[in-house]
Amino acid sequence: MFTTNIPADFLHDESRRIGSAAGIAFPKSTADVQAALQSAHMQGSSVTVQGARTGIAGGAVPDNDLIISLARMNHIISPVAVTKVGEYTITVQPGLLLSELQDHLKNVDISSVPLSTSPLIFPPDPTEASASIGGMTACNASGACSFAYGATRKHIKGITVILANGDSLTLKRGENFATGRTFEIITDQGNEITGKLPQYNAPTVKSAAGYWIKPDMELIDLFIGSEGTLGIITEIELALTPAPAELTGIICFFSRESQTVDFVNQLRTQSSEVAAQLNAIEYFNEGALNLIHASAPKTGLLLPKGSQNWKNAIYIEWAQSNSLSGEHLILVSQLMQSCGASADDTWLASDAPGLKRMKAFRHAVPEQVNSIISERKRKYPELTKLGTDLSVPDSQLQAVMNLYHTGLQAASLEYVIFGHIGDNHVHVNIIPRNMEEYATGKALYTQWAKQVVEWGGSVSAEHGIGTLKKELLAVMYGNEQIQAMRELKALFDPSFMLNPNRLFEAEI
Ligand SMILES: Cc1cc2nc3c(=O)[nH]c(=O)nc-3n(C[C@H](O)[C@H](O)[C@H](O)COP(=O)(O)OP(=O)(O)OC[C@H]3O[C@@H](n4cnc5c(N)ncnc54)[C@H](O)[C@@H]3O)c2cc1C
Repeated sequence: MFTTNIPADFLHDESRRIGSAAGIAFPKSTADVQAALQSAHMQGSSVTVQGARTGIAGGAVPDNDLIISLARMNHIISPVAVTKVGEYTITVQPGLLLSELQDHLKNVDISSVPLSTSPLIFPPDPTEASASIGGMTACNASGACSFAYGATRKHIKGITVILANGDSLTLKRGENFATGRTFEIITDQGNEITGKLPQYNAPTVKSAAGYWIKPDMELIDLFIGSEGTLGIITEIELALTPAPAELTGIICFFSRESQTVDFVNQLRTQSSEVAAQLNAIEYFNEGALNLIHASAPKTGLLLPKGSQNWKNAIYIEWAQSNSLSGEHLILVSQLMQSCGASADDTWLASDAPGLKRMKAFRHAVPEQVNSIISERKRKYPELTKLGTDLSVPDSQLQAVMNLYHTGLQAASLEYVIFGHIGDNHVHVNIIPRNMEEYATGKALYTQWAKQVVEWGGSVSAEHGIGTLKKELLAVMYGNEQIQAMRELKALFDPSFMLNPNRLFEAEI
């Protein structure tokens, strides 16, 4: 079941932390997962669960234990089906990659799907299409288009979860609810689990920090986003959405950041008809644009002429039924002008190759940051990037941008800022040049987290807590609620065998 022949790639994830493991298993079915857990239990070992290891919070990095990799559980279990008018689903194994799902959906003959007239998509897209569907579910991943579509949770209709003792839970959306803050679940084997939910409520901003808790909540939501600490997800029923008829990508360039925030706020307060067509609103600061410039020889991504004068950019993805009317372009021009920018400073794409280039543009920034960090790690092996994942309410957008710039400039740190400004959730990537800068950046990050929590925000909007952000989860919820999370885990995993020390320390 477990082999000691562990390929080096399975000892790390995209956080670039390297762990160690005593063995690895590659189950192909739910029954194999149950057998692997039983074997780990008999060996008295804890288990690290792995999807595609694209996570950046260190959750999939083994900790001298046994790895259960879901890489070979990558099949489609049930093809695209219609459950009722306008509701389409597909059921997959957790190791299926997002890119594989996307390719599969592109090739589905839509005429063979009853009642469907347009191609179907699975909207969550954490930029990194090599993420697995199981990993995305375990982390409640989101991405640029979550501005329109919400995070992964919203698109999950059902899951099968294997608990530490090998029992399975089949959870369907709309079927299992907590009563207030108490709950009762019966496993497929007929065993009853009853308990209490912690006292906190998940924030209203975008959040993937800790267990998602609400009174009377759907119990499926406890497992979505639980980062493999409550059970291993082995089957996932996904809700599919009809693809928009037309997409336009527009990158708007600005010479001042205040113009950028103003532009975003104006976009967000347009009529509900306009808002419904906005898929994504993404931000790039000057450092991010410089990185795209610098990487051009490698990526072939050349910014348009005039870019040397631009300090920030906003990428907007527009989904509309008729791009030819051009109304959205007129609106963008008007808004840019009203923010004091020139409507000529835009880059437009409406065909597939153009949109692909824009996607590469967005992906280039985190990839470049990761490769700089890999280079610096040669001299400082302990060095990692410090990537923030904080979100705030709409009203605090300008304040949070000021907070970041002031702190970073005062500390003279190298950094880029990019990401999901439409959700008030940008990633500051501090790129330390040495371990002193790393320590300074880390202190700054904790300081920001405290402020963001005071504003009603989240310490992790999408990447999750993993092993690297446990202190921040404590900042958000406090030690008493962390203890309540520990007690909740113990109900499903009494010996803390599954992904121990993720989200919080197994022991106080
Ligand atoms: C360049 C880059 C950009 C990214 N951008 C985004 C972004 O925009 N938004 C975003 O949300 N994320 C982003 N990510 C992070 C990452 O892609 C997501 O967190 C993704 O959901 C992880 O999926 P994975 O399959 O790689 O999971 P892994 O990294 O393998 O695992 C992540 C966690 O989930 C657990 N897990 C995995 N599979 C299961 C399962 N089947 N059952 C139970 N637990 C499981 C693991 O134990 C671990 O704790 C980015 C990463 C990179 C490298």
